[in-house]
Amino acid sequence: MKLRHEMLAKVNRIVIKLGTGLLTDAQNHLSARQIEGLVAQIATLHELKKQIIIVSSGAIGAGMAELGLKQRPKRLDELQAAAAIGQSKLMAVYDELFGKFGITVGQVLLTHDDLKDRARHLNAHNTLATILAHGAVPIINENDTVAVEEIKFGDNDRLGALAATLIDADLLIILSHVEGLLEGEGRVVPAVPEITHEIEALAGDTDRATSVGGMKSKIDAAKIVTRAGIPLVIANGERADVLRDVLAGEEVGTIFLPHADKLASRKRWIAFFQHPAGVLVVDDGAKQALCANGKSLLAKGIVSSEGKFEEGDLVSIRDKNQVEFARGLTKVSGIQMKSATGVVIHRDDMVIL
Ligand code: GLU
Repeated sequence: MKLRHEMLAKVNRIVIKLGTGLLTDAQNHLSARQIEGLVAQIATLHELKKQIIIVSSGAIGAGMAELGLKQRPKRLDELQAAAAIGQSKLMAVYDELFGKFGITVGQVLLTHDDLKDRARHLNAHNTLATILAHGAVPIINENDTVAVEEIKFGDNDRLGALAATLIDADLLIILSHVEGLLEGEGRVVPAVPEITHEIEALAGDTDRATSVGGMKSKIDAAKIVTRAGIPLVIANGERADVLRDVLAGEEVGTIFLPHADKLASRKRWIAFFQHPAGVLVVDDGAKQALCANGKSLLAKGIVSSEGKFEEGDLVSIRDKNQVEFARGLTKVSGIQMKSATGVVIHRDDMVIL
């Protein structure tokens, strides 16, 4: 496909997300044989001077195998213990396999909190950029051992999307055991120009004991990166030379095409890295002014406000049907909203989704 070829020919910085199912065998043990094949492919890209960032799952799966657990634990402390045990196994395998190619790896464990605060966000960006500048490959995972619900990313598809957004990657590749987004009769959808309701309806959850996510979380990841201006390819990591073929623009898996306007770093942070502290519902005139005319949000366009938020907090902007269409940093707290006049969210502090 010409479009794919053009889009992928020049990519340099690539985030590759590897799912648990790819890294572990039928007994959930880390499979050096399977991982070796992926590492060899990544080493080839590294040789071509591509900058690679890996987002790797597999810690909880490997920890489960180590502890002899067949079912994914329900208790948080059990999950966290499995993650701690599995993560060190995982890194040992990567370290050894990349070492055979003379490539150094660096472990980066993140929680959502680390990227929410702007200063910590920039620090994480700089650390990753410095690892890359040293010619090493950062291997990111969620810091599952300390992350509790409030500070969790949720799943690694989302973490992959946020990592790509954080480091301003040219491409995100999600590899798992599925061929791509499937439509009727198991045909792979080759390209998704826009994530419509029909596209979302094609996605299901995972059926594996060690994995989370499934296609639904991959579509959520697609929404993030494509809005940020980064393409996403979902492909089967078991396929020989999958990375080479994806980058050659061959019709492998499903490509989600990015929005034309790429968001700058601060706007990406506003759009994706915080949970909104409240909601502002606006009238149709205000929606039009924000979406079509590039205006700031004025108090007079606000119909109602929900939630306890302070000045400077991120809020979700919704239309009268409660559909979120923008996010921004409010100049006015929830308590003061009723008596507010003038600009409530400045254009520079807002992102249309
Ligand atoms: N962080 C989890 C792990 O390493 C994986 C989460 C996911 O795959 O979405 O086991």
